[in-house]
Amino acid sequence: MTDASLPFDPDDPPQHAPAGANEAVWDVAYQVHQTHRPRCVCCGQPWPCERARLAAGQLRYACRLGSTGLADDAPASGQSEPGL
Ligand SMILES: [Zn+2]
Repeated sequence: MTDASLPFDPDDPPQHAPAGANEAVWDVAYQVHQTHRPRCVCCGQPWPCERARLAAGQLRYACRLGSTGLADDAPASGQSEPGL
């Protein structure tokens, strides 16, 4: 599933947060995302594995959150840092 409205490529997100995204949230999610790509050796699942999808969701959340850290909706999981 792709989302053309995203300010980044979910399969290959930039290391640094796009303009307007929350950098702290982005950095954490990006590192998790990188750990699980291009081929996941930790989950044993085909790309994108579950944790990579979770990280991609966090990247989208960082964009919604914005640099102010304020957002109307939070991720359903409530996890700030998924385990590796
Ligand atoms: Zn994985």
